[in-house]
Amino acid sequence: MTPLGAITHVNYSDPDGQIYCCLRNKVVKLDEEQQTRFCQGCKMFGGNAEGKGVECVWEDMRSVSDPYVVTDPILEFIKNQTRIVGVNYMTTMTAYFGG
Ligand code: SF4
Repeated sequence: MTPLGAITHVNYSDPDGQIYCCLRNKVVKLDEEQQTRFCQGCKMFGGNAEGKGVECVWEDMRSVSDPYVVTDPILEFIKNQTRIVGVNYMTTMTAYFGG
């Protein structure tokens, strides 16, 4: 069952065959190993983007469209790190100032 608020991320492979993998939080080659070792058993797996990549369904706190198309995995990786750093920063600030 698709969780409430889950967004379908359509990750098209870039010219080097790479995609952003949410599970591993890194840019990876969408090769046989990635597909069998990770995607096959991944709860976020939502399809193979008609053979052009991988669809990953996960709850995204960013304000993005659904489906959300990703063609630049490196940029997508950076955007996701910004989000995580932002959350940690806020948590640190809250703890520090006792908010
Ligand atoms: S289905 Fe899971 S393992 Fe495969 S790319 Fe998406 S998040 Fe990563």
